Amino acid sequence: MARAKGSRRRKAPFKAGAVAIVGRPNVGKSTLLNQLLQFKVSAVAPKPQTTRENVRGILTGDGYQVVLLDTPGYLGRPAHLLDQQMVRLARDAIVEADLVVLMVEPRPPGDIEENILRLLEQESKPALLAINKVDTVRNKAELLPVMDEYARRFPFREIVPISALRADGVGLLLQLVVRHLPEGEPLYPPDEVTDRSERALAADIVREEVYRLYRQEVPYAVAVAIDEFREQDAEHGGKDYIRALVFVEREGQKGILIGRGGQALKQVGSRAREQLEHLLGRPIYLELWVKVRPGWRKDPQFLRWLQETNQ
Ligand code: GDP
Ligand code: MG
Repeated sequence: MARAKGSRRRKAPFKAGAVAIVGRPNVGKSTLLNQLLQFKVSAVAPKPQTTRENVRGILTGDGYQVVLLDTPGYLGRPAHLLDQQMVRLARDAIVEADLVVLMVEPRPPGDIEENILRLLEQESKPALLAINKVDTVRNKAELLPVMDEYARRFPFREIVPISALRADGVGLLLQLVVRHLPEGEPLYPPDEVTDRSERALAADIVREEVYRLYRQEVPYAVAVAIDEFREQDAEHGGKDYIRALVFVEREGQKGILIGRGGQALKQVGSRAREQLEHLLGRPIYLELWVKVRPGWRKDPQFLRWLQETNQ
């Protein structure tokens, strides 16, 4: 436990800890993460050494440091090797977290939520419930039975209706997260926002942009490998040159991903580049190549290669 010294004794104690945001796919976790990271007080300085796989963002504010853990959303029955890895990562994040934010749709718990609730019980983790997408609920009274049901299922410290998309309630959620964090020293220097490697960040961002655009057509069928990462490359006008390979499982998916005249892929590329430039604070030249590799999700060798390539 940290204790402020000297003249700072009367100040509220510093709060620090790891927070896992968990919930079913599409519930809005990434949207919330992005909103939260806008509260960041400092520029991003990713370190090349990855100490922890799951860290997504670090939010250091006045009197607190929130380490946001990234958790893949899927906690259903594992169907593929990749899905099993995702379940393991989500479980790891819950185990590692000091505080869990369970994010749900504005409706009663389903199978995935039940799985997560069981994990929370097993680990006896303090948790907040964020009911997202309340902008889609016209009659707010409809939220009450949902809140009731969750409250009966688990002793949530707080239940907060939010709209991650419209940034409604996000500031309040952050306040409550900080309130329920343990007292402690900051774990990272305040000017650091993530400890993922730049390669891992680049791969994540490209993959997220692909999912954002093609959620329906290619669910879970995309892997991204950062094949080249040359900082301040003379051949590209001093910009960082990043070549990302986007792996799909079938020819048809490749066509969809590229789009007519390459338009769709171009959109993914420019959105990913903007985000990366923002994160790294440097101009980027990003090149995307789509590759077909049938069955990659069940190929342990490929998955290992992928992990090593993006380290
Ligand atoms: P994730 O899979 O949990 O990371 O979910 P995403 O953050 O990628 O969001 C999935 C979809 O839900 C996207 O189309 C978001 O724009 C949408 N979404 C997220 N939050 C909200 C919200 O508060 N309201 C509405 N209407 N849509 C949202
Ligand atoms: Mg997401």
